[in-house]
Amino acid sequence: MQPFQQGRSLKEFSTFGVGGPIRLFTEAKSLAEMQEIFQWIRSEQIPFLILGKGSNCLFDDRGFEGLAILNKIDFCDWKGSEVSVGSGYSFSLLGIQSARKGFSGLEFASGIPATVGGAIFMNAGANGSETFQPLRFVQFLTLEGELCYERKEELEFGYRQSPFQKRRGAIISALFALSPSEQARAHQLAVLEKRLNTQPYKDKSIGCIFRNPTPELPAGLLIDQCGLKGAQIGGAKISSLHANFIINAGDATAKDVLDLIQMVQERVQEKTGWHLEPEIRVIGCS
Ligand SMILES: Cc1cc2nc3c(=O)[nH]c(=O)nc-3n(C[C@H](O)[C@H](O)[C@H](O)COP(=O)(O)OP(=O)(O)OC[C@H]3O[C@@H](n4cnc5c(N)ncnc54)[C@H](O)[C@@H]3O)c2cc1C
Repeated sequence: MQPFQQGRSLKEFSTFGVGGPIRLFTEAKSLAEMQEIFQWIRSEQIPFLILGKGSNCLFDDRGFEGLAILNKIDFCDWKGSEVSVGSGYSFSLLGIQSARKGFSGLEFASGIPATVGGAIFMNAGANGSETFQPLRFVQFLTLEGELCYERKEELEFGYRQSPFQKRRGAIISALFALSPSEQARAHQLAVLEKRLNTQPYKDKSIGCIFRNPTPELPAGLLIDQCGLKGAQIGGAKISSLHANFIINAGDATAKDVLDLIQMVQERVQEKTGWHLEPEIRVIGCS
């Protein structure tokens, strides 16, 4: 087990650049290290948090009063069209590599700045595809130390939802089964190009803030219709490129972001009647 560090900040682990101090910090590079860390957590009864790339988390300005574990379990083993991958591996890289090998199923991942574990946890998706689709197995370590191999069929996924959101533990690895396709690479490049043209990639953000109320009704469209592109509170600003993105336009705090979210919810409700639900995870102080 790596020695625990003090003096680190959640800001370092957020694509938003937002978040306060972490009481204790460590990294897990293998299942064995995660098992040791969980054993320590059980004995100390301390809250814990698994950090992926922090690309979907709004971290509290007051920080985290527990142990934050950066997931660095990042192996990647191919066997034909199947890939067994550590949960700390880059999801975007996996999408690019699989398409380069001529396999279809994860093209949509290209450009999503996530770990594989974070993508499974959130059931990340884009362009009509979702992480659970090519998934076959997930290896999950419970906080109690039980190592579970779970078949996709036993797991219930939904729109940006996975059963892991209700469980205490860590996704360790996954197996994806892809299908050969001559179009995979061209499709993946098209996905990436669309992203770069329609999303504020050069800015600090945590992706789409709100869930789409229905598959046909993007939250970004409603926000745009309310004239909110460019609206700003403190350092948090609605992107002028994509209205469902909030960007860190300076020294944004979590409070700025939460205030802006509330303002958007109120304006959209008032003008369109739709209630927007956040898609992001707000990670609190405890
Ligand atoms: C520019 C940009 C574009 C994006 N585009 C998309 C998109 O197209 N589609 C989409 O769905 N999302 C998108 N997102 C949001 C985000 O990338 C996804 O939600 C992603 O799945 C989060 O992965 P992560 O590794 O960063 O997880 P984090 O943000 O680090 O963590 C998210 C949650 O998962 C938990 N977690 C992470 N890893 C594990 C693990 N191994 N075991 C247990 N729990 C874990 C964390 O504790 C946290 O609660 C985008 C974000 C950005 C910044």
